[in-house]
Amino acid sequence: NSMTEQSQPVPKPVPEPDEASMPFFQGAKQGRLMIRQCTSCQEYLAPDRVICTNCLSEALEWIEASGKATLHTFGIMHQRYHPGFAAEIPYNVAVVELEEGPRLNTNLVGIANEDIRVGMEVTATFERQGEVDGNDVYLPKFRPAG
Ligand code: ZN
Repeated sequence: NSMTEQSQPVPKPVPEPDEASMPFFQGAKQGRLMIRQCTSCQEYLAPDRVICTNCLSEALEWIEASGKATLHTFGIMHQRYHPGFAAEIPYNVAVVELEEGPRLNTNLVGIANEDIRVGMEVTATFERQGEVDGNDVYLPKFRPAG
């Protein structure tokens, strides 16, 4: 089981899916990047939105995004905020702009920190973060496209 897979002494914090975010996490587990779309004005919204930022409608539905994005901004973190990240310092934190428009906070994978460039094309990839209540939890990360 997963306890024996965990090589780090301290596991990373794992986000806990709740009822509202469940479609996002279920999608991630299946390799699908789920975002929200307003059914009133068709605006695409980040997965954590509960109200449309364009028309204030609460009638949002889940849709699968393409997974294509460009790097909007990033930072390299040298400080250890959680012991679970100790093995990955320095690590990057990134904001990507999805092809559909919304921006997501994420991390870039498969690239050296010194090679990261704002504006580069990236694509979603899904990484297992751990498990909550016996369920694997995956999160979208982004790697260089192509
Ligand atoms: Zn709207």
